[in-house]
Amino acid sequence: MRPEILYPLFTPIASINGVGAKGEKLLAKLGIEKTVDLIWHFPHNIIDRTYSPALMNAQIGKVATVKVKILEHLPPRVKGKPYKVVASDGTEQITLNFFKVYEKTIQSSLPVGQERVISGKIEEFNGSLQMNHPDYMVKPSEINTVLGIEPVYPLTAGIGNKTMGKFVKQAVSRIPHLPEWVEENYKKSMAFPSFNEAMSTVHNPKSIHDLSPSSVYRTRLAYDELLANQLSLAIVRQRVKKQLGRELKGNGLLRKKLMENLPYELTGAQKRVLQEIFKEQGSKYRMLRLLQGDVGSGKTIVALVAMLNAIESGAQAAIMAPTEILAKQHLETIAPLAEEIGLKAELLTGRVKGKKRKQILDDLANGKTNIIIGTHALFVEDVEFKDLGFVVIDEQHRFGVHQRLALSNKGNKADILVMTATPIPRTLLLTAYGDMEYSKIDELPPGRKPVDTRVMPINKDKDIIEGLKRKLAQGERAYWVCPLVEESEKIDLQAAVARFEMLQKVFGEDVGLVHGKMKEKEKDEVMGRFKRGEIKLLVATTVIEVGVNVPEATIMIIEHAERFGLAQLHQLRGRIKRGIKDSSCILLYSYPVSETSKARLNIMKQTEDGFRIAEEDLELRGGGELLGTRQSGFADFKIADMSIHKGLLLTASQDAKLILEMDENLSTPRGQALRILLYLFQRDDAVKTYLA
Ligand code: ADP
Ligand code: MG
Repeated sequence: MRPEILYPLFTPIASINGVGAKGEKLLAKLGIEKTVDLIWHFPHNIIDRTYSPALMNAQIGKVATVKVKILEHLPPRVKGKPYKVVASDGTEQITLNFFKVYEKTIQSSLPVGQERVISGKIEEFNGSLQMNHPDYMVKPSEINTVLGIEPVYPLTAGIGNKTMGKFVKQAVSRIPHLPEWVEENYKKSMAFPSFNEAMSTVHNPKSIHDLSPSSVYRTRLAYDELLANQLSLAIVRQRVKKQLGRELKGNGLLRKKLMENLPYELTGAQKRVLQEIFKEQGSKYRMLRLLQGDVGSGKTIVALVAMLNAIESGAQAAIMAPTEILAKQHLETIAPLAEEIGLKAELLTGRVKGKKRKQILDDLANGKTNIIIGTHALFVEDVEFKDLGFVVIDEQHRFGVHQRLALSNKGNKADILVMTATPIPRTLLLTAYGDMEYSKIDELPPGRKPVDTRVMPINKDKDIIEGLKRKLAQGERAYWVCPLVEESEKIDLQAAVARFEMLQKVFGEDVGLVHGKMKEKEKDEVMGRFKRGEIKLLVATTVIEVGVNVPEATIMIIEHAERFGLAQLHQLRGRIKRGIKDSSCILLYSYPVSETSKARLNIMKQTEDGFRIAEEDLELRGGGELLGTRQSGFADFKIADMSIHKGLLLTASQDAKLILEMDENLSTPRGQALRILLYLFQRDDAVKTYLA
C-alpha cells in the first residue's frame, strides 16, 4: 500500500486550485494527471524580474520591474489599434499597450492617479518607451510577489506561465517532509541536498545555472529516479533468483538428433551462448536470463536447443511472442524440426477456439504437447501444463516490465529466457532489465552479404519504380513499407492504400497490401501469397516489422523513413538480410526533415552493426528526442538523462544491490524511506508484488 505520507501528492489534479475541468484536459496533454506529476514538471528557463532601473536608464529589450504612476488612459480611436495607458516613474514616461483586452479590466487594474508596479519587456517606439502587455500589474504593497526570478515552465496552449507556476507551486507546497533514502556517505561525497531542498530549489531557481541538469539539485533528483528504477528491478530479480528452480540437465539425445537434422552448423557465438544457458538451466536456482542478438543472428534455433534441454529433463517448454504473426512464424520454424525428432509443438493464441482449443489444452495438461507457442494469452488465461519447466519470452521490444513481472510471478518454477532482437547498449540494458544476466550472440551466420542502403527524397519514386520493374522481372521480391503513426492512423492508411493503388497500375496482380487494420485472417492470406511468390511486391504498414520471414525478399523501400526510429529501421532492414543474395534498401524521406532524422538516416547508410546503431540511437535520443522509447519498452525517465547521468546509473545499480543484501524486505528505517521513494516515482509494482 502507498505510504500515507504521500497521500497529499497522489490526489487528483482537480484538487489544485484553479485547475478545473478545462485545466485538467490541458494538463493531461503534458502528461500531468495527478498532483505528483506537477512536481516533476521542471522549469526550463527563467525570467529575471530583479532588474528595477529608473526608466530614464532602462535598457531597451530587457525585462524590468518598475514602480510607476498612472497618468492617463487613451482608448483606441480606430478599431485594431491598441488601448494605451501612459505612466511615469518620475524620470521618464512609458506607454503601456494593450491589444485585445477588456477596457474595464485595464481601467480597474490601472486607475489614473495611483501607483502600480509593472513588469515586462522594455521596448522603444518612435523614441519613446513602451511596454506591450505587462506580465504583472500589482499594487506597490505586492511588489515582492513580482520582484525576483521567475521560473519558466514548459507549457501547452491554454495555460500561461503564470498559471502553470501557480499550479506547480501548490503541488510543491504539498510535498511532505520526507525521510532520507540516499546512503549517507554517498550523499556527503556528492554534496547532495535533501530531497525537499532539491525540489524547492529546482522550482525556485536563483540563476540560469540552477537549471542545468548537472546542478547538484537536479543531479540528486536524477539519482533518486535512477535509484527507484534500479531498486524495483533488483527486487524482482532477487526474488526470482532466490526461488529454487529446476535443475534442467538433459541427456543430450534430442539435441544431438536436432543437430544431425540441421542443414547448417551453429556459429561459434551460438554454441558459446548455449553453454551459458545450459549451465544456468542446470543450477538449482531459477534462471532469468536475457538473450541478445541482432536480427538474423539465429536466436530461434538457440531457443529451441535450450528448450530441448528442458524437454530431455522431462519438462515442457513454451515460447511467448508479442504478436500472433510472430508466434505463427515461430511455429513454422519450430514445428517441423520438433516433429523430425519425435516431439509435438502447438500454437495457442486467443484466436484458437472451440474444439481445437480444447484439444490443445488437453494435450498440454496431459503432457502430449512438448512445446507450446503463443502470445501472452498463454499465461493470462487458465492454461494448465503437465509440467512447464522452461519459458522463452521473445520480446522484440514489445513487452514492458509489467508483463515480465506478471509472468515471473506466475508461481511456477520455470526457468526464463528473454530474447530481444535489438542490441541494447549497456546503459539501457541496466535501466530496462536491471542487473540481469545476459548472453550475447555477437556473430551472424556466415555468408550474409551487406545490404546496399540508399537515402533518397520521395520525388525519386518514379525512378525507383522503374528499377523495381527490372528486379521483379528477374524474379525478386520486394517490400514497400509505409509508416502508420498512431496520431494520424487514418490519413496514413489512406496514404498506404493510395500507394498500393498507384503501384497496382504499374504491376497489376503482382502487388499486395497488408496493414494493421486488416483482420488477422486476411493478413495471413496476403502474407502467405507473398511467401509463395504469388505476389511479388508487398505494400505494408509496419505490421511486417516483427513479422514475416521471406528469404526470397531482397528489396525494401521505406517511405517516410524520417518518421521511423533507428531501432525500427534496423529491424525492418533485417527482414531482407536473410538470404545470401544481394539485397537493397531504399530510405525515402519527405520534407521537412529534422536534423535528428537526417542523422538517423545517415547512420543507417553507414552501418549495419546493430550495436553501433543502438549506441547512436541513444546518443540522438539523449539530445532530447524520445522517439521510439515508449514502443521499445525502455524505461523513460522524467529527470534522468542518460547522456548526462550515466555515471549515476551505475552507482544506483550497485546501491540497489547492496540495499537488498542488507535489508531484503526493506524493513529498516532506510528501507521504509526507500519504499516511499519507489511509490513517489511510481515504481511500486515490485513492492506490491514481492514485499509485504
Ligand atoms: P533471429 O531470430 O535472431 O532474428 P533467426 O533465428 O530467425 O534469427 O535466424 C535467421 C535465419 O538464419 C534463419 O533462416 C535460420 O535458419 C538461419 N540460421 C540460424 N543459425 C544459423 C547458422 N548457424 N548458420 C546458418 N544459418 C543459420
Ligand atoms: Mg527469429
